[in-house]
Amino acid sequence: MRGMRSVTILGSTGSVGRSTIDLIERHPGRFRVSALTANENVALLAEQARRLRPRLAVIANEAHLDQLRAELAGTGIETAAGRSGLLEAATLDSDWVMAAIVGAAGLAPTLAAVRRGAVVGLANKECLVCAGAIVMEAVRAHGATLLPVDSEHNAIFQVFDFDRPETVESIILTASGGPFRTRERHSLVDITPEEAVRHPNWSMGAKISVDSATMMNKGLELIEAFHLFPLEADRIRILVHPESVVHSLVEYRDGSVLAQLGSPDMRTPIAYALAWPERIDAPVKRLDLAAIGRLHFEEPDTERFPAIAMARAALVEGGSAPTILNAANEVAVAAFLARRIGFLDITRVVADMLAAIPARPLADLEEVIAVDRETRERADEMVRALT
Ligand code: NAD
Ligand code: MG
Repeated sequence: MRGMRSVTILGSTGSVGRSTIDLIERHPGRFRVSALTANENVALLAEQARRLRPRLAVIANEAHLDQLRAELAGTGIETAAGRSGLLEAATLDSDWVMAAIVGAAGLAPTLAAVRRGAVVGLANKECLVCAGAIVMEAVRAHGATLLPVDSEHNAIFQVFDFDRPETVESIILTASGGPFRTRERHSLVDITPEEAVRHPNWSMGAKISVDSATMMNKGLELIEAFHLFPLEADRIRILVHPESVVHSLVEYRDGSVLAQLGSPDMRTPIAYALAWPERIDAPVKRLDLAAIGRLHFEEPDTERFPAIAMARAALVEGGSAPTILNAANEVAVAAFLARRIGFLDITRVVADMLAAIPARPLADLEEVIAVDRETRERADEMVRALT
């Protein structure tokens, strides 16, 4: 690779953001950081900025801007805040952008990066769930490049023959099954946030950890895969694989099945996207199949975990249905983490919102934002009624 790749990290203080920085710091001279953004954690953002020396550091919550300014005084690093600050970071002319904000909050900045034709490492799956058609249309219109960072989609990206998509029969997304894979549904009533975020294989942010526990994560990933890969929804299958070693598979017409394997460590897919089309060293535990000995696979249990079927139905319905699914899920997961509703209420809120709000076609970002807002208001009402 010639020259240094300049990198913007949207969501630098999160789990994916911190892993991205870890890789950047292990490859001195290869990357330089243009901008970093965070939501609340101003102390960590300032510390990252002092180490990595970006041109711009942005705190989404404007109440923390004064503290950010004070912490970065004399460094020459510009500071900004709020929605406009996030857009400023996304549109700065860096070579590569990591979209690692969690939730629909990442949509506008990710879309802004896409609209300047950037190479985007996409971790923020919710933006494809709530506005997949709009984001993918912008990718085509502006010549942007999306590199999937979600481990399953990164796996498929590595083994999918994009030159001959007609030779692909199906793609198979693997799912760990989360921490409650073997639990009876009735025993999930009293699950605490602490239990739900304790994922057996992956260390991740709170929201995606809860999504893994309800298996909504796999539902979101089904919709994400539909937008990323040229395949009908019924050709995207889900397979439970508790060890999280086979990260996903592509089945070809001749019966060949190609998979990407590795230890469950996000630094592998992040490194792949960060250096793409080259490869760099990642400090992950090497896969020792002999030590693992056995790998297991099973069909997902759609009765105990209704979220996957809900997501599939929303994908087939199309229009704003996935936007409603995503917004309701974000509200419900936040309410669960705040101990306001129970674990099983999460999918209940999502199902009720999908039933209550009629799906409609979505033409642009403004319509997505309107549906997202309306769903959040109604889901909030339902949460209040449940508490
Ligand atoms: P996280 O909660 O650890 O971090 C989220 C980041 O987004 C933080 O930097 C936070 O400051 C920022 N943020 C949160 N709300 C914001 C807002 N309203 N405005 C601006 N910034 C905001 O989340 P994570 O686990 O790193 O996940 C990030 C994204 O990557 C999610 O979409 C998740 O689904 C996806 N993903 C994560 C993993 C993983 O291993 N953590 C794996 C696959 C995909
Ligand atoms: Mg994933």
